[in-house]
Amino acid sequence: MPKLFNPALENLPPAELQKLQFTKLKAQLIRVYEQSPYYREKFDNAGVNPHQFNHIEQYREYPFFDKEEERESQTQSSAELGHPLGMHITCDIKDVRRISSSSGTTGTPTFSGFTQKDREVTIENMARLMARVGIEKGDPVMHAGVLSMWVAGLPCLDSLMGAGAMVIPMGALSGTERLAQIASVTRPKAMLGTPSFMLHLIKTMKERSGIDPKSIGVEKLLVFGEPGGSVKEIYEQMSAGFGGAQVYDVMGATGCHSPTGISCEAHAGIHYFAADNAYFEIVDPNTMLPLPLEDGVEGEIVFTGLDKECAPQIRWRDKDIIHVTTTPCDCGRSGPRMLFRGRVDDMLLVKGVNVFPNAVRDVINALSPKLTGNIRIVKDGSGPVVTPPAKIKVEIMKETPAAERDAIAVQIENAIHHKLRFRAKPEFINEGEFKLITGATGKAKLVEEAE
Ligand SMILES: [Zn+2]
Repeated sequence: MPKLFNPALENLPPAELQKLQFTKLKAQLIRVYEQSPYYREKFDNAGVNPHQFNHIEQYREYPFFDKEEERESQTQSSAELGHPLGMHITCDIKDVRRISSSSGTTGTPTFSGFTQKDREVTIENMARLMARVGIEKGDPVMHAGVLSMWVAGLPCLDSLMGAGAMVIPMGALSGTERLAQIASVTRPKAMLGTPSFMLHLIKTMKERSGIDPKSIGVEKLLVFGEPGGSVKEIYEQMSAGFGGAQVYDVMGATGCHSPTGISCEAHAGIHYFAADNAYFEIVDPNTMLPLPLEDGVEGEIVFTGLDKECAPQIRWRDKDIIHVTTTPCDCGRSGPRMLFRGRVDDMLLVKGVNVFPNAVRDVINALSPKLTGNIRIVKDGSGPVVTPPAKIKVEIMKETPAAERDAIAVQIENAIHHKLRFRAKPEFINEGEFKLITGATGKAKLVEEAE
């Protein structure tokens, strides 16, 4: 059995876990109802009373919470209470120890507050993650993600330090050369960042710094922010580029205490290890009713932070479509595993067919080693509509001859038609000329609007 930080909680039998979740959930619902006039009104309007919460089935009657509501609540608290943590706050503002913000890629950023207890739960989850990947106290860990206020930035550093790692707070913005120099002398055992940044390092590091990423001695790559860590072609490329490092895909849960899951050596989905503090439901995105948590279930994931103290977001709609597997994993760890399918908001509409941009990228990248992994779908305007044949910009190695390009183009058209059921027209862009468009979090954008 692989090592776990908290086997008692991480290996709870399902019946005991459900009992614990129910007890904590009821206490949390009563707490927010009693301590926050905001939640009292919201629950009263929905006709629910936590004091009469007697079975988990009743939870489906509770109202959801989403980004728009959070933004309104925070605009109101900024004006009325003098802080941006929202009218749904349930602690004394003086008890807040740190604030993180959303990546701000869509509209005004929103904020999350963490009390000392919230920091401790986050550290507990980070310790669970570290034990699973074999990072021990004092092991050097380089953070090579964007070190900003978003949850995977400075808050992640805070919990890595709290859980005992020896942190090298490099960040992603100092340039490849500087990163290579520092990594070659600090010898991180693990490195954290987005998949696209890791691929960027593999491509540019040796040329720019004279240092081969294979020579740094990184044993573990922990990637987040994009789905690449669970996509075979991408994690294999990352692993090879860093001399056989093991690649792990990290998952967080908005409104809870992230990280909450990490993939394993078997690459069979992300093991969710925080169900005792970050409760999740899978709901049907059309009816918004909870689906039974059984093998193969797929739908929108909804989170409730059972231990969140500052400003709990009860039934938070994360807008991610997740596929859940419950069959035993080869690695021997228990619990449900998750595969990210796409963002509800990113779903494109091609002739009435829902298409996830990351699925398009994965299909294309599996086709030829001549493709670099960068693609961008061109949509008609600001809405989700793409008129077929969908124009897709695809980066290709410069030296690829014309005949081979034609063959790859046909392969792309066939694969997209066969696997995703729409017509596409690839437009090749030579390596080096494909301008990556990234948001505040360093995530590469997969869609652009037609000019
Ligand atoms: Zn596993």
